[in-house]
Amino acid sequence: MTAGLYFSSASALPDSVGAGSERRTNSKTAVVTQTPRGARGKWRPMKALVKSRKEPGLWLEDVEPPQIGINDVLIKVHRTGVCGTDLHIYKWDDWAQKTIPVPLVIGHEFVGEIVEVGANGADFYPGETVSGEGHVVCGRCRNCLAGRRHLCAHTQGVGVTRPGAFAEYISLPMTNLWRHHHGIDEDIAAIFDPFGNAVHTALSFPVLGEDVVITGAGPIGLMAAAVVRHAGARYVVVTDVNPHRLELAQQMGVTAALDTRTERLADVQKRLGMTEGFDVGLEMSGNTSAFREMLANMSHGARIAMLGIPEGEMSIDWRAVIFNMLTLKGIYGREMYETWYKMTVMLQSGLDIRPVITHRFEYREFHKAFEVIESGQAAKVILNWN
Ligand code: NAD
Ligand code: ZN
Repeated sequence: MTAGLYFSSASALPDSVGAGSERRTNSKTAVVTQTPRGARGKWRPMKALVKSRKEPGLWLEDVEPPQIGINDVLIKVHRTGVCGTDLHIYKWDDWAQKTIPVPLVIGHEFVGEIVEVGANGADFYPGETVSGEGHVVCGRCRNCLAGRRHLCAHTQGVGVTRPGAFAEYISLPMTNLWRHHHGIDEDIAAIFDPFGNAVHTALSFPVLGEDVVITGAGPIGLMAAAVVRHAGARYVVVTDVNPHRLELAQQMGVTAALDTRTERLADVQKRLGMTEGFDVGLEMSGNTSAFREMLANMSHGARIAMLGIPEGEMSIDWRAVIFNMLTLKGIYGREMYETWYKMTVMLQSGLDIRPVITHRFEYREFHKAFEVIESGQAAKVILNWN
């Protein structure tokens, strides 16, 4: 086993060094009881879900715990969310084969507790509950320097191109942490990453008083539905082809949940007394026919935020975009850290996304988690690492 490949230093910053020496020389580095390193810095193995072979599957292994650099924080993982990305890696599809350096600890949706802080740690402390932004940015490109970190051109992905969170411990740069308020529901905190995708997309355009259509009632579409409802949209119409997910959409309080195998968006518009089309569209399926159906049902001047990732090139009738003067905006990740702020305060002001969590498993039962996701009978699935 090449432990270094699992756990190269977690920091993207050039000045990061191993934690062992800091612990002896710098009083700012805090060490509490739960660290994976025992006396004299000798590590004990930790459990992790590793993509350790270039074939379908995922393996629970004992691996070396991560080192932290002076700008990093070591986190004891409590709970993780399983994402569609993890399923791609599990199934080892074309994208995964091109993207994932094997071996790699995967996973990027998590909540945990800080157990160790690098020497440069200014305002993070052991015991705090945090989640991590899954995009680690370069800090040096034009956008990073201008404070537009979500537009970084050299992003690394936690659990995709650098060691991930499906493990007892993860190390991340301090600049990637979001501190949760005391007492937050850890299941919700564990899914701040995809919740952030939903919030980033849903708040891309003003929705107060607007009619919103969301294509795709996956976990992200479901959360986006709750967000636009909370943000004051008039009608929120969600489409999918999976009855289980449409039922969840009803639980999220949508105006209409539409099975596009049997009903058209135009019919729903009629039923609701709409005459000019939807004002805002959130594309969250990655499906071409869903997107075409959306385009055909937008008002003139409507705005569409696109999060869903199509499998390949997607042809549409561009005349609808031009003659109807539509605005299309691509969405990737979350805004650092405005999206995180909005997530936190919307939860504090009554937004409820709990129905999106349908299953919970111990991490050792990860096969069951992937099975239930593949079955289409689940939305968000949580793994417990405590
Ligand atoms: P998901 O795959 O669970 O959800 C997609 C939903 O679309 C499913 O419920 C599916 O049944 C539905 N769908 C399929 N065909 C449809 C059709 N014809 N009409 C309407 N709905 C249809 O995925 P998710 O985790 O909720 O993520 C949503 C999308 O966003 C995915 O495409 C994912 O790859 C993408 N994503 C993008 C980013 C980003 O940063 N841009 C981040 C995370 C996820
Ligand atoms: Zn950058």
